[in-house]
Amino acid sequence: MTEARGRRIAVLRERASGETRVAATPETIKKLVALGAAVAIESGAGVSASIADDDYRAAGAEIGALDQVVRGADIVFGVQGPEPALLTGAAPGAWVVATLDPFGQRERVNAYAAAGLEALAMEFMPRITRAQSMDVLSSQSNLSGYKAVLVAANLYGRAFPMMMTAAGTVSAAKVFVMGVGVAGLQAIATARRLGAQVSATDVRAATREQILSLGAKPIFVETIAGIEGEGTGGYASEMSEAYQRAQAELVSSHIAKQDIVVTTALIPGRAAPRLITDAQVASMRPGSVIVDLAADAGGNVEGTVAGDRVVKHGVTIIGATNLARSLAADASALFARNLYNFLSAFWDREQNRPLLPDDDEIVKGIRLTRDGKVVHERLTAA
Ligand code: NAD
Repeated sequence: MTEARGRRIAVLRERASGETRVAATPETIKKLVALGAAVAIESGAGVSASIADDDYRAAGAEIGALDQVVRGADIVFGVQGPEPALLTGAAPGAWVVATLDPFGQRERVNAYAAAGLEALAMEFMPRITRAQSMDVLSSQSNLSGYKAVLVAANLYGRAFPMMMTAAGTVSAAKVFVMGVGVAGLQAIATARRLGAQVSATDVRAATREQILSLGAKPIFVETIAGIEGEGTGGYASEMSEAYQRAQAELVSSHIAKQDIVVTTALIPGRAAPRLITDAQVASMRPGSVIVDLAADAGGNVEGTVAGDRVVKHGVTIIGATNLARSLAADASALFARNLYNFLSAFWDREQNRPLLPDDDEIVKGIRLTRDGKVVHERLTAA
């Protein structure tokens, strides 16, 4: 493939342990080819997401070994950031489009810069309407929220729906969702579909209506104002001590009656807020299950171990990390569409390649490195 500069996209097989997803699907390959790109996929890249090399080939991709695929690539797609050493042979200034964990993998970001690569961190996508279809955090969180409820249901020794049987009645499980963003909304919807009695809380006032519209009960601190409306860019900030105290009291009285708790609360750039103490865990009925989706950010629950399951006071606490990976095919399909939507939005038809204007809000949000330097203000300021 010797197409004009700017058109060659390489999709690598993910190498991180436990990663099952892939950054392109036959559907997005077709669309990328229609846009004018040539796509090369590393052999086996889609296997764990149930996509065979032949499926990619049929969609118009070239399949090859790593070095063949990377050679001359202008854009490299990944789910997680590839090690810079894998990218030897890519075109000078090639873009790396993936989730790059910029704070956790700072050395790797420096190495992208040193290699002259332009690293674009998809998890830094700004929360603006125009970028909604490119937002990998949202697409993956939605699936995590769904899966969190299934994981809890699977471990719970009782049923979710109320059942009236000849042998007597089985009562409905009580599910409490803390943090009603993308993951929390899907957790509420999923728990409702399974027949549970669902309640939910958040600090952003706008979520009250959303909770009600899903048929769940809002549990809110009433004595101290939370965050009006959506919050800044849809994000929460750290709450005052008085609010935290009031929230703790509210949770204490509510949580003892719950069977399943799903926590999803995150504050950008900070450790996850602690929402459930060990004493509150102890107040729950043995056999209850807590799924902590904030485990990677330190956890919302005292005693959470990221990536592990612990039992405290008879309550199982799951430190969930990236549950979307357990839905590899759907998670890949959505992730791949996010990347396609990003690239196509910046595709310049005349030059037949994507162009990233320096003053664009999205570009400023996601561009980490350029011309041999780390350029992102959140990294240069740190
Ligand atoms: P998130 O993952 O940052 O946080 C999860 C939830 O935890 C949020 O609802 C937050 O308010 C809540 N939370 C934080 N601290 C809390 C506390 N102490 N107690 C209880 N809850 C707490 O959020 P998210 O899921 O990414 O999305 C949040 C909002 O942003 C949603 O309204 C979503 O629709 C919006 N959003 C918009 C776009 C876009 O327009 N492009 C993209 C993504 C999300």
